[in-house]
Amino acid sequence: MEVDITTSVWTDCLDIIKQHVDEQNFNTWFKPIEPVRTEGDVLTIQVPSQFFYEWLEENYVPVLKKAVRQVLGEHGRLEYSVVVDSGNLQNPPVLVNYPNGNGVKKNQPTQENTRGEYSPFAYKALDPRTVNSRLNPNYSFDNFVEGDCNRLARSAGVAVAKKPGTTSFNPLMLYGGVGVGKTHLVQAIGNEIKKNMPEKVVLYVDQNDFTNQFLNALQNLKMQEFQNFYLQVDLLILDDVQFLAGREKTQEIFFNIFNQLHQSGKQIIMTSDCAPRDLKGFQERLLSRFKWGLTADLQEPDFETKLAIINKKMQSDGIEIPTDVAEYLAYSVDTNLRDMEGVLNSLLFHATLLKRNIDLDLAKEVLKNIIKEIQSDVSVDYIQKTIADYFKVELEQMKGKLKKREIVIPRQTAMYFCKRYTQLTLALIGENFGGRDHSTVIHALESVEDMMKTDPNFKNSIEELTKKFKSRMSA
Ligand code: ADP
Ligand code: MG
Repeated sequence: MEVDITTSVWTDCLDIIKQHVDEQNFNTWFKPIEPVRTEGDVLTIQVPSQFFYEWLEENYVPVLKKAVRQVLGEHGRLEYSVVVDSGNLQNPPVLVNYPNGNGVKKNQPTQENTRGEYSPFAYKALDPRTVNSRLNPNYSFDNFVEGDCNRLARSAGVAVAKKPGTTSFNPLMLYGGVGVGKTHLVQAIGNEIKKNMPEKVVLYVDQNDFTNQFLNALQNLKMQEFQNFYLQVDLLILDDVQFLAGREKTQEIFFNIFNQLHQSGKQIIMTSDCAPRDLKGFQERLLSRFKWGLTADLQEPDFETKLAIINKKMQSDGIEIPTDVAEYLAYSVDTNLRDMEGVLNSLLFHATLLKRNIDLDLAKEVLKNIIKEIQSDVSVDYIQKTIADYFKVELEQMKGKLKKREIVIPRQTAMYFCKRYTQLTLALIGENFGGRDHSTVIHALESVEDMMKTDPNFKNSIEELTKKFKSRMSA
C-alpha cells in the first residue's frame, strides 16, 4: 500500500536525519512532519506552516537532501505540502505545495544562495525609483487641514515622515470613522517620505490589494516572491485593516510580514475604522502588535475645520467661494467629508464647465442632488415632536419664547437637527420657532456644537437622536 511505502520511506529518512540533528531540534522540526506520498523519486511531506517550511529550507536542506537521496536513490527529491490554513469544521485546510531546495525545475528562475543550494524562488531586488507605491500625489500635509479633531494623528504623521522606522510610533495606527481623513493622512506621510528619501521603498496598499495579491500568490505558488517583495519595503501602509477581520490566512501572512519588517526597523502604518481594542475577528497576537507603537484617533471635524477644508479645497482649484456658501456647506454637509468632497466637486463642475456663479442657490441645488439623505421624511414637525418627546418638554413651549434652560436646550437641539436634516434656510428655521431671526438660529447651532464638546451626556443624546433620524430616512 502506498501509505505504507511512504511511511517507511520517511521513517528511514528520519533515522538518517537523527544522526545529524540533536534531539531537541529533531523533536521540534522533524517530529511534526507528516509524510504524504511517494511518487517515483519524489517524497512529499506535510509541514504545519509557511514559517516551518522556511525554517527547514533555511537550516536543514543539506541533511534533508542527504536523507532523501540515501533512501530514494540519487534522483530522490523532496516536496513540501505546507498547511497555510488549518481550516475548521466548515472549511477544509488550505495546502500549498513547494519543491524543496533540490526540486528545482529547469526552466524555473533560480538563484544560488549562500549555501550553494538552489532556491526555486528568484529574489528580485526592488528599485525604489520604479516601484509603484500606489500613492495619490494629491494627498499632502500641505492640503491636510489641522484641527482639534486630528492634531495628535497629524503630528504623529509628521514625526513618522521625518524619521520613518526610528520613532517609537511604530507601528502608527490611525483610526476613526468614514471620511475623517485617514487615507489622506497616511498617503501624505508616504508622499513626504518618497519626496525626501527617494532611496526608500514606500508601499501603500489597502486590505483589498493585500488580500488579492496574497490569494493570487497562493494560487500561483508565488508565496516566496510575495513575501520577498513585502520584506523589501521600507514604509508599509496598510489602509483599512478592519477588513482583514476573520481572514485567518491573510492575517497570518500579514503577521509574518509585520514581524519581520518591525524587527528590521521598517516603518508600518495602519488605519482602521475603530480602535484596535474594538476590532473583532482578529488574532489576539496581531492585535497586541497593533498597539506596540502609537495609536491615534481622528474625529469628525468641527465647524471651523470643515470651513477651512472647504476653503482650502476650493482655493487649490482656483475658485473663490463666498463665505455664506462655505458656511452653509459646513453646516449642512454633516454626513462626512467624503460627501463634502462630492458636493465641492459638483460645485466646481457647475462653476467651471457650466460657468455658473457659486452662490447659495447653486449650493442648495447641488446639495439636494448629491446628498439624497437630506431630502427626507424628516420634516421640521417631526424633528420638533421627536425632540420635545426626547427631552420630555411641552412641544408648544419648546417652539415658544420661554428662556428657561430646560426649554432652551431642547429648542436649540431641535434647531440644530432642522439645519442638519431639512433644506430650510436659517431664517426659515427661525420662523418655525416662534418667529426668531437667523442669528438666533446660528447662535443655537454654535451652542449645540459647544455643548457636544464639553458635555459627554449631551453628545450622547445627539448621537442617539441622530440614529433615530437616520433610521427614519433609510426606512
Ligand atoms: P477616510 O480614509 O478616513 O475615510 P479620507 O482620507 O478618504 O477619509 O478623506 C475623505 C475626504 O476628505 C478626502 O477628500 C480628504 O482629502 C478630505 N479630508 C479629510 N480630512 C481632511 C483634512 N483634515 N484636510 C483636508 N482634507 C481632508
Ligand atoms: Mg480611507
